[in-house]
Amino acid sequence: MGGEFFMFSGGKGANQAVAAARMGAEVILICKTGDDIFGHRAIDEFKKEGIITEYIQQDASKASGTALILVDERGENEIVVAPGANETLTPVDIDAVTPLIAEAGILLLQLEIPLESVVAAATKGHALDTKVILNPAPAQVLPATIFPCLYLITPNETEAETLTGIKVSDAISASLAAEILLQAGVQNVIITLGAQGAFFKNDHMEIMVTAPSVNAVDTTAAGDVFNGVLAVEMLAGASWHTAISMACKAAAMSVTRMGAQASMPYRNEIAANEAH
Ligand code: ADP
Repeated sequence: MGGEFFMFSGGKGANQAVAAARMGAEVILICKTGDDIFGHRAIDEFKKEGIITEYIQQDASKASGTALILVDERGENEIVVAPGANETLTPVDIDAVTPLIAEAGILLLQLEIPLESVVAAATKGHALDTKVILNPAPAQVLPATIFPCLYLITPNETEAETLTGIKVSDAISASLAAEILLQAGVQNVIITLGAQGAFFKNDHMEIMVTAPSVNAVDTTAAGDVFNGVLAVEMLAGASWHTAISMACKAAAMSVTRMGAQASMPYRNEIAANEAH
């Protein structure tokens, strides 16, 4: 016998789309759901957020992707993911949205669809001169061919270790790991360091941005808020320091509230919080 049951909308792509939309950006989400209760609910929620849902496909032969998350008394969790329709988003589907990728200011990718589709999207974005950001989550080893297609990669500590073999715990180890990713061909690297903040490195500079000190109650989707907000700030032409600071502020606000999408701040809330 367990305890209480909660149901939240999630998925990295969905969460990052919501975080970006709440910053006021025009967001087009490319994904697949099942033709089922979770898929319909997700699309309704995206519409309420102002996300463009026209290109979301519903695959009647698959269930929508879901995750069953068990949380114990100590807050430790164990997650089982049933990817469902996410697994059927293929490189052919990426080809079908080529004009959207060409017109986009930024293409923000995660690893909850087949890796070959992520590689296809990154390759296309790069060839079409669209800035490609890869949030390499959940942690996975990547083919060497993807790195030169990336304008920016944003691993957390665990993902950075999976990609580079360096155990990352602070700015010094993050710099070593970032160097390996730069050598692999990525143009810019941000490694998020949880409550410590985020570390940036490219061929010209290194920046460590400290996270605001907050009372964290639920860190689910902190990385997703960080990526969604960062992408919008980059699109607006912010400097690296400004964009990363804004992403850190937004992510810090989200960890003070329960839930994933529900906890994501709107642009005006971040501004109001800054004024205090
Ligand atoms: P993920 O959620 O992908 O594991 P992190 O834990 O590195 O990624 O968190 C992403 C970002 O969220 C961090 O860079 C930081 O800005 C912010 N963040 C996460 N945890 C906290 C915290 N306890 N206090 C303040 N900010 C946090």
